[in-house]
Amino acid sequence: MAPLPDLGRPPEIPDEAIAQATELLRAGRLHRYAEAGGDGGPVAELERRFAQLVGRRYAVAVNSCGGALFLALRAAGVRPGDPVLMNAFTLGPVPGALEHAGARPVLVEITEDLVIDLDDLRAKARASAARVLMLSHMRGHLCDLDALGALCRDEGITLIEDCAHALGAAWAGHPAGSFGQAGCFSFQSGKHVNTGEGGVLVTDDADIAAQAILHSGSYQLHAQNGTPPPADVMAAWSGRCGNFSLRMSSLAAVLALPQLPLLPARVADWNASHDRIAARLRSAPGFVLPHRPQAEAYAQSSLQFRLRDRDHAGMAAFVDAARAAGVWVKWFGRQAPEGYNSNPAQWPGADPAEVPRACAIQATLCDIRLPLGLSAPDCAAVADALIAAAVQTARKVSSDAPA
Ligand SMILES: *Cc1c(COP(=O)(O)O)cnc(C)c1O
Repeated sequence: MAPLPDLGRPPEIPDEAIAQATELLRAGRLHRYAEAGGDGGPVAELERRFAQLVGRRYAVAVNSCGGALFLALRAAGVRPGDPVLMNAFTLGPVPGALEHAGARPVLVEITEDLVIDLDDLRAKARASAARVLMLSHMRGHLCDLDALGALCRDEGITLIEDCAHALGAAWAGHPAGSFGQAGCFSFQSGKHVNTGEGGVLVTDDADIAAQAILHSGSYQLHAQNGTPPPADVMAAWSGRCGNFSLRMSSLAAVLALPQLPLLPARVADWNASHDRIAARLRSAPGFVLPHRPQAEAYAQSSLQFRLRDRDHAGMAAFVDAARAAGVWVKWFGRQAPEGYNSNPAQWPGADPAEVPRACAIQATLCDIRLPLGLSAPDCAAVADALIAAAVQTARKVSSDAPA
């Protein structure tokens, strides 16, 4: 049998990006701002192109998505002690951004399709009086963003979108990141644009953009930003926003720029692999895959599934068997966090008792990364290895049990 593909392989850095990075390194101009002025260089160019890509007025390039999430919370007026709503299926940097802002997480349930539960959101918003929702499009799963938008309007909730895994995804034709007061993206190597580390905050609100620019650490050089808010708005916030040093370096920007035009082809590649593996798993007994609504255009660089009727030991046995067969399965139900995965019981300040259903769902939830360039036989081999691991570790029903 052919060897299984390395699921951890990150998206390639295009030759053009490597050439531009080399030139930049020779010049040494890695910091985005120039004291004696200038056109803002590659970071400003990235901000212009990224704002256009997501269809928003402003883009502020920063050090990471976690940095962008913190800035979005801060600019939304979240102050220490404030409650902030968040869906209870996400990555550690999201509760981390709340902690960074001093906010108190109010966990919201998820559905079996791995998206936020809107009924629980309404109930928790009313009970907690929280006025901000940090919505993670975790692993690229989009909730009904039309219904969510209506709920946020009714309840007076400000929406911040965590789009770390949703660059290229859309709901009813509108890109992820275009629904909230702010949208935050990641360029970490496991995401859809790979610069090692990097993030972008997008918004249509000049006040939010101005605060993000100033807090990111623009010194007095914000005229060099790619999508600068009007001068009077900048002047109004100037002197009221401390410098938190969360800038993007020019090196990250030159690595990102040539990857932006590749996104549609990357998304098509990821989705083809996702759909192939998903179809094979769906037809195997014991596997449960989330249902994807028609209005969702996903960009699925990973695949999530649950195993029906497995207890903790049964899940652990499956994960071990799949890894032994060469498929690096990740599991959200581990008692201790492992690698990138964690669950509500493991986030400082969060109370897992607020979300029993999200905890129960994650107890049997698994995840694999999908590298670019998987062939159809690769996809079949990955799916078959998962199915074999499930069969091999299925709870034995005693054959001589009384009928
Ligand atoms: C990766 C990720 C983040 C954090 O991104 P960084 O750029 O590493 O800070 C936040 N949320 C989700 C859902 C992610 O997958």
